Amino acid sequence: AFLANVSHELRTPLNAVIGMASLARGLSSEPKQRDYLDKIAASGKHLARIINELLDLSKIAAGHMEIEKLSFSLREVVARSLAVMAGQAAEKGLKLSETTAAEVPDMLLGDPLRIEQIFLNLLGNAIKFTPQGQIEVRVSLHQREGKRVCLDIEFEDSGIGIGSADLERLFKPFSQVDPSVSRRFGGTGLGLTISRRLAEMMGGDISVSSREGSGSNFRVRIWLDLGEALEIPVAELDSLVPPPMRYENAQVLVVEDHPLNREIVEALLNAVGITPRMAENGQEALAILSESGPGGFDLVLMDIQMPVMDGLSATRELRSRAGFDELPIIAMTAHTLAHEKKLSWDAGMNDHIGKPFDNASFYKVLARWIGKEKQRREVASSAAEPQMSAGNLHALRGLDVDAAIARFSGREDRYRHWLLDFAAHAGELLAGLRRDLLAGEREKALKTAHSFKVQVGMLGMDELRVEVLALELALREELEVEELLSSLDRAIAHMSEELLRVLTTPGRAEERPA
Ligand code: ADP
Repeated sequence: AFLANVSHELRTPLNAVIGMASLARGLSSEPKQRDYLDKIAASGKHLARIINELLDLSKIAAGHMEIEKLSFSLREVVARSLAVMAGQAAEKGLKLSETTAAEVPDMLLGDPLRIEQIFLNLLGNAIKFTPQGQIEVRVSLHQREGKRVCLDIEFEDSGIGIGSADLERLFKPFSQVDPSVSRRFGGTGLGLTISRRLAEMMGGDISVSSREGSGSNFRVRIWLDLGEALEIPVAELDSLVPPPMRYENAQVLVVEDHPLNREIVEALLNAVGITPRMAENGQEALAILSESGPGGFDLVLMDIQMPVMDGLSATRELRSRAGFDELPIIAMTAHTLAHEKKLSWDAGMNDHIGKPFDNASFYKVLARWIGKEKQRREVASSAAEPQMSAGNLHALRGLDVDAAIARFSGREDRYRHWLLDFAAHAGELLAGLRRDLLAGEREKALKTAHSFKVQVGMLGMDELRVEVLALELALREELEVEELLSSLDRAIAHMSEELLRVLTTPGRAEERPA
């Protein structure tokens, strides 16, 4: 809990610093000012990296770092990591090559994100410390024991190398052979420490051989279980291509029961030229799809938790119907844990979008699943910059106004509308949850907590979201929740009061709750 809080408290304002610096840069035409703003953004990103890495380290130290066991394609992870770093290597004129031995199995069970983290780190270092020449990545099979394999992943560069006296020191936190180099390139001195611990958690290690002046060779050894069929695709190679600005004739069905979420999804789609068809639950969606036939829609965006028929059942039902096995169905979900994601995969969904939406990832998912022939890259001339003028809302603590307005595609009036709606109804909602608990309806209370968490997340109430999340987890674990409830009560009352004060100030409030 402490880590989650620290991370939240530091990252939220830091994201604001980085985001505002780049917004301001867009407004400035004064070279000196732009240079300062670039430096603010660069330092901000550096600081964000340190925070992330420190969190990783403390998670490891506290024994809270979890290595997931997912089925993944190793070759995809390798390809993706190389694709991410290819630009940096090319900029320095370095040749970047990779060979994965044929006998290395592709389907493995492990933590693809953590493996990728190791790759990015070691590749990043190799590029950083190699002024010219080449970098070679080699993946080979070291050993095989029943259903487990031991892989060797080598990163060999023709760079500046490391003197023997410094070799072991590298893996200690914050140690850098030449801090002035790192200052130039923005390293933290934590990367190797974390990578080595991660490799150790995968039953392996990282070793290095190097000579000053003639390149280095870092070897990562990890143990992984053999995987079976690919359950959770990790292919996001297309994430490197900027998403298209507009779509033409794309038919999208949105299945979502919560009015706030419906509005946000609709606005996000409208902004790229899509007028979606809307359904409020799985059953309505099935009816619309039966009528349209399998070719009627390019994409279905499906909420999971809905009344009448939930998204998982609707997907399973649809997949059992002739002709509907190819239609892309994307889960819109606040469940981001691996086993929860797996549920949507098992039901036949193709991908997922996390709630609250982050616009960039939302559009990436669209681009991934809507046919290229319907995508248009040119900027629509009418696409105005989102309005970022929420004025006094910015003064409220615990409200990420800009992120939330961006989610409403810049429609500040709609954002205000939903804030007022929150102020009018959130207290009631919590009271209802309490009643359900007293009546022994824990499941119902859990559902309410879950959708409330999504709602406050969408509205940019980051601090409140952490509290509701705590409540949701406690309910799920069947823990005592009285204290959480009263603290949440206070937080909601406070937020509602503040919102009403700000939003109903004469001249500012355009709308009242319905
Ligand atoms: P960072 O790169 O963020 O400074 P790391 O823990 O990843 O932190 O690396 C620590 C130090 O190890 C680097 O600062 C550098 O001095 C040295 N190092 C790492 N990789 C290489 C490499 N491929 N060639 C030469 N030196 C390296």
